[in-house]
Amino acid sequence: MTADVVIVGNGALGLSVAVETALRDRSLRIVVVGSEARPGSASVAAGAMLNCFAEVTGRTGEHPASRAKFALAREAARLWPGWLERLAEAARHVAVPVRSTRGTLVVLGARSTGDGVGSMRAIRAAAEEHGEPFQDVDPYGIGVLEAEAGDQPVDALYLENEGAVDARHVLASLDAAASGLGVTRVADEVVSLVTAKDAVTGVRLSSGATLPAGAVVLATGAASGRLIEQLPPGTVQPLLSGTGVALETQRVRGEAVPYVVRTPTLVGGCGLHAVPLGNGVEYLGATNHVYFDAPAGPRLGIVQPLLSGYIAQFDRNIAFSAVRRWHYGLRPVTLDTFPLLGRAPVPRLFFATGTYRDGFHSAPAIARHLAGLLTDGPAPEHDPYAVFAPGRKPIETMTVDDAAERFAQMALLVAVERGMRLPYIFGAEPIAAACRQRALECVEQLGVPVALAPEILGAVSEADANRIRQVADYLSTVAARP
Ligand SMILES: Cc1cc2nc3c(=O)[nH]c(=O)nc-3n(C[C@H](O)[C@H](O)[C@H](O)COP(=O)(O)OP(=O)(O)OC[C@H]3O[C@@H](n4cnc5c(N)ncnc54)[C@H](O)[C@@H]3O)c2cc1C
Repeated sequence: MTADVVIVGNGALGLSVAVETALRDRSLRIVVVGSEARPGSASVAAGAMLNCFAEVTGRTGEHPASRAKFALAREAARLWPGWLERLAEAARHVAVPVRSTRGTLVVLGARSTGDGVGSMRAIRAAAEEHGEPFQDVDPYGIGVLEAEAGDQPVDALYLENEGAVDARHVLASLDAAASGLGVTRVADEVVSLVTAKDAVTGVRLSSGATLPAGAVVLATGAASGRLIEQLPPGTVQPLLSGTGVALETQRVRGEAVPYVVRTPTLVGGCGLHAVPLGNGVEYLGATNHVYFDAPAGPRLGIVQPLLSGYIAQFDRNIAFSAVRRWHYGLRPVTLDTFPLLGRAPVPRLFFATGTYRDGFHSAPAIARHLAGLLTDGPAPEHDPYAVFAPGRKPIETMTVDDAAERFAQMALLVAVERGMRLPYIFGAEPIAAACRQRALECVEQLGVPVALAPEILGAVSEADANRIRQVADYLSTVAARP
């Protein structure tokens, strides 16, 4: 079998790129490789909030890459309603109903730090600037929540146009659309890329077979790191796993939330959210702990605050709910936390990954971008997502000292959320100073001064010597580049 396009990975991104490309050019032979069980898939585990403004933080407007990410989220928000219709049409006779929810209530918990207050302010400012409707909500009068005494939210706002889809339904709909469009599926794993004269010419499967291809798209989620490591040193930045745990529960006491309820995005990508899945079932997510090498299962100490945070900050009645299912997925996170989209510096190789916390939402916009590259040839003169080119040097949105400060803020946020109380004679500064020092030691270990996001510094602090050496080698190679 020879393909025009081989897409490696069958999550939301791989399938969305396959469907959009097939819709644009029916003559292309498109193959998607990935096992049916989708091991480690972030898409399967996702709460699939379709949030754009609710994701805004005080840092969204600060850097061109952050602004491009916001533009990507806005484009996706515009595309979603039509995207679901196009999937249904492409699936032809196999109707896959997709449950979707409209409305997002963003609540700021009593234990938040200044970072959360800044995010709430930034959401309001961005919504006003772009004419996005929102309502301020009295945090003491949120009928759908019953936080524990002392943990009631201190601020809330409602975004009527933002909501969620059921991720598992959307994946089924993508599967049906791909099959309706004649996309070939190979239930296998790609173990390596095949190259000739420095260009990628196909993939090698775990079965031993080779699949020749005109173009290869890596949409392998957090597992992309293993294939990136096979490229010449310094070609594409390392990829980490943002492990996330969530659970589905059935209401026993009180009512399920009628729309998405979530906290704003907090430093280090922390936050809680509840998504209604119908008939009293709620999706409660999600933890976020980033590793270079993800463990097979989540750490109990990380899961514990997810549950206690819910009950305390959102709704104590949820403590009576019946647990139906756990999800554990690996978010694809790059060293600089921005996505890898478009052409790699290796001919005929493309990337659609590194989407971290909001890749489900961005999927239709990323699919549009990739399908354009795969079917129309060169990117247009003004490519709004050129900043996410896979061969870039890591994007730095702050100084190393700012990064150390953010690491300290993340540590304090986590400590305060988990109930840290200091006697009045102590301030938190000694703890912050120790965290800053730890962050600077991590950067020093890497050998190149680089400003990394706090959760990435956390991963560096837990990495073994081999990983540190590998990242240090990558950084010194790209630092030597003009
Ligand atoms: C708990 C949790 C909650 C989340 N909530 C949201 C949310 O509310 N909104 C949002 O927008 N995003 C959310 N995300 C993030 C979002 O899920 C991801 O950004 C997005 O789904 C990534 O999609 P993907 O297709 O790139 O990766 P994946 O879904 O991980 O898919 C990659 C696929 O490739 C397969 N694969 C890997 N290696 C190979 C190989 N070598 N050969 C063949 N196949 C391979 C894997 O098995 C997998 O099926 C959440 C993530 C998690 C974990």
